[in-house]
Amino acid sequence: MSAEARGGERLPYLIGKLKAPRIAERLDETATSAREQEWSYERFLEALLEAEVFARDASGTRSRIRHAAFPAHKTLEDFDFTAQPAAERPLLMHLAQLAWVAEHANVCFFGPPGTGKTHLATALAIRACQEGHRVAFATAQQWIDRLEAAQHSNSLDQELRRLERYGLLVVDEIGYLPLERQAANLLFALVARRYERGSIIVTSNRGFEAWGEILGDQMVAAALIDRLVHHAQIVTLKGKSYRLKDRSGAPRSADQATGLRPSA
Ligand code: ADP
Ligand code: MG
Repeated sequence: MSAEARGGERLPYLIGKLKAPRIAERLDETATSAREQEWSYERFLEALLEAEVFARDASGTRSRIRHAAFPAHKTLEDFDFTAQPAAERPLLMHLAQLAWVAEHANVCFFGPPGTGKTHLATALAIRACQEGHRVAFATAQQWIDRLEAAQHSNSLDQELRRLERYGLLVVDEIGYLPLERQAANLLFALVARRYERGSIIVTSNRGFEAWGEILGDQMVAAALIDRLVHHAQIVTLKGKSYRLKDRSGAPRSADQATGLRPSA
C-alpha cells in the first residue's frame, strides 16, 4: 500500500525538502514491515532515519565505525604478517574484499591470546563499515548480556530481528569464560538466527573441540558449530602473544623463550 493511500500525501515533498533520498526509497517497504510486525512509532522512525544516516557515504563510514563500537581501531595495514605467518596475507586480502559478507558467510579466528584475533576481526569489520555494511562488535559475554536483558523485557525476538539489519556482527572472545546454560542457549539463538541471513566473525582461544565444555552442553555446541561453519572461513593463528613480544623488546621474528619473559 502506498503512502498516499494511507494519507501522508505531503511526505514526498517533505522528504525531498530534507534531501533524504533513502528515506523516500525505503518508505513504502519500511511502512509495510512496520504494519506487519507492529513496530512502535519510534522503531519505524529509527529504521527510516538509519537508512539515510548510514548511507551518507564518507560520514556514513565514520558513523558506522563509531556505531560498531570497536575496542580499538585496527586495520590490515597495521598488521605485521611476518610476525604471524599463520595469517596468510593473500587469504586476509581476499577476505577484505568481503564477498563472504554479501553471501552471509562467516569467519572464525582461533589462536592463543595475543596472536591477533581481535585485531584481524576488527580490521575486516572496519572494511565492512567502509563498504557500507552495518556492523556491531561486542564480546560474547556482552552479546549474552544484551540478549539476556532483551529476554527479561520479553523482547528477545524483537532484538534478534533488529540485529538482522546488521550485515556483520563480531562475537569476540568465545571461550574465555565457561557459559551458563541460559547464556549458551542465547548464543545459540543468535547464531541460529543469523544462519544464511547475516555474517558473523567469531574469535576464540579454544578450538571447536572445547566448545562443548565452554557452552556446557555438547548438543548445543554441535548445533551452533554446525550453523557457524556451514559457510565459513577458519583462520587459526599461532605462536606467542604479540603483546609480550612488544613488552620484551625482543625482535618480532624471535619466537624464543625470551619472547615470553619481559626484560627487567
Ligand atoms: P587476541 O585477540 O588474539 O588476544 P589481539 O588481536 O588483541 O590478540 O592482539 C593483541 C595486541 O597485539 C593488539 O594490540 C594487536 O593490535 C597487536 N597485534 C597482535 N598481532 C599483531 C600483528 N601480527 N601485527 C601487529 N599487531 C599485532
Ligand atoms: Mg582478543
